[in-house]
Amino acid sequence: MSLTDDLYREIILEHFKNPRNHGHLESPDLIAQGANPFCGDELEVTVALEGQRIREIRTQGKGCSISQAAASMMTDAVKGKSLEEAERLSLQFKGVMLKDQPMDFPEELEDLESLEGVKKYPVRIKCAILSWNTLLEGIQAYRKGDHNVMHVEGEEGEHPDLAHQMTSTLAEVPGTISKEVPGTTHSPETPLDRQEQVTTALKSVMDPELNMNVVDLGLIYGIDIEGVKVKVTYTLTSPGCPLGPVIKGQLQSALARLAWVKEIQPELVWSPPWDPKTMASEEAKTDLGIW
Ligand code: ZN
Repeated sequence: MSLTDDLYREIILEHFKNPRNHGHLESPDLIAQGANPFCGDELEVTVALEGQRIREIRTQGKGCSISQAAASMMTDAVKGKSLEEAERLSLQFKGVMLKDQPMDFPEELEDLESLEGVKKYPVRIKCAILSWNTLLEGIQAYRKGDHNVMHVEGEEGEHPDLAHQMTSTLAEVPGTISKEVPGTTHSPETPLDRQEQVTTALKSVMDPELNMNVVDLGLIYGIDIEGVKVKVTYTLTSPGCPLGPVIKGQLQSALARLAWVKEIQPELVWSPPWDPKTMASEEAKTDLGIW
């Protein structure tokens, strides 16, 4: 993991633990509700205006760390700005996340750059842009004289490329994978070698939310190798975010790279529940801080 990834994860976790402008304004000029059904994220944005300027903004809701941290960063970025500036920032941020436009934010908004890493995981892009889309829709509704609006990710029909990306991520995950890896079919290996190979391969699978590999996180509960068949018993950090297909796909592709593996059986279990205190490696625990 690069230093930048580490730093970015720290910024995201810091916002998640200490969200800025958290809560609800009593008599707001606009209220916008946001929901991201892909992950179960829910958000309420309340804004108090002074003329056309955002005097106060609060968000509250529940959801994954990315959506919560992104909402905190969003409020930081737009508080004190005019509605027009806030709109422009929203579109700029969405351009970065959805259209690969360069990150070019002023220095005081550089926390936003920490979210760029999320782009690697199409499912999570919706988590990162939920608060921005919700604000954007709130502002647009306000201009039309509507003070209360509901935004649902995926219903605006403006991200065909994202939908495509999501489908192709899942499509990379065929049940049986045929492959030819030249040069890897030399001397027969002992079962121990194979166990090590599988563990090493699984270390390339990252939990998108924590950006750490599933082995060090302690999410792999068991590896059973029977000839050319590998069964991996694993769990996820929480049942909330539907990362299941993404992680399952990554497990399968990682193992498919091993030349001798002909059959992969990923098995997701929820018992025992994942507990980082007893299951994660020492290094992972240090990285996770309070987790
Ligand atoms: Zn989410």
